[in-house]
Formats: sequence, structure tokens, C-alpha cells
Amino acid sequence: MQDDNCIFCKIANGEIPSVTLYEDADFRVIFDLNPATRGHALILPKEHYEDLTVLPEELQSKVLPLAARIGRAMKEGLGAKGFNVVQNNGEAAGQTVHHFHLHIIPRYGNPDEMVLWKPGTSTPEELNKVCAEIGARLK
Ligand code: 5GP
Ligand code: ZN
Repeated sequence: MQDDNCIFCKIANGEIPSVTLYEDADFRVIFDLNPATRGHALILPKEHYEDLTVLPEELQSKVLPLAARIGRAMKEGLGAKGFNVVQNNGEAAGQTVHHFHLHIIPRYGNPDEMVLWKPGTSTPEELNKVCAEIGARLK
């Protein structure tokens, strides 16, 4: 299913042309319009799914191997020293396009390439509480 108002549906299905790094029956891989680094790519499913929570497991199981292939090729082809796999779910998490996508961001060792979180602290008591709150709902 596609969403008529979704830009990534149009790009993924070729309705809006894009430089395509990779394409198969399920996915199109394009480059981010505002790249964090040179080569920043996005894996888009051709069907519209809002985020990871509704992406069918069949596609979930295909997307990570594809990310690994792309990351390897970025290291070989672009001389990246590493890469980040980033995937935002919901506005609070920074998702701005509500069609599932996986960012593959090559890293070259420059300190200002990407914003990192500020490491916090935790205690065993807090971790046990968090674990119980999430664990009770794991299906
Ligand atoms: P999010 O913040 O939702 O995880 O990431 C959305 C990403 O899509 C952003 O990094 C943004 O630069 C990129 N983006 C938004 N619109 C377009 C577009 O029309 N074409 C391409 N190639 N990238 C886009
Ligand atoms: Zn869509």
C-alpha cells in the first residue's frame, strides 16, 4: 500500500526521480537531501509503513542485511572508517518523514560529523524498574 501524500512513497516507487544506489522488489536506496556526511543514504521500503513498529517482520529481516552490504560498500568505495545505522520512530525521536527509513551514514573520523547524545547515568534500581516496565509488555 502507498500513501498518496507521502514523499517517500513517490520516491521509492520512482514517481519522483532520484539517484538510486540500489533497488530490488522491496526497497529503493537513495541519498539524503541534507546529508550528515558524504554518501549519507536512506533505505526506503516501496510500501508505506509509518515506522518500525508496523514494518512487517519479513521486511525487518531484509533491511539489516541490506544495511550491512551498503555499509561495507561505503567503507570500500568512499574510504569511510565506519558507519552509523540510524532509524527514528516518532516525532519525539526526530522522525520527520513518516515512512519508515533507515539512515546509513558513513563516518570519516571527523568530530563534527554527527550529533551524539550526552551520556547520562543509571543505577541498578532504576534499571530493574525500567526492565520491569518494558518487559511486562514484550510480546
Ligand atoms: P528522519 O528525521 O525522518 O529520520 O529523516 C528524514 C530524512 O529525509 C532527513 O534526513 C531529510 O534530510 C531527508 N529528506 C526529507 N525529504 C527528502 C526528499 O525529498 N528527498 C531526499 N532524498 N531526502 C529527503
Ligand atoms: Zn510512504
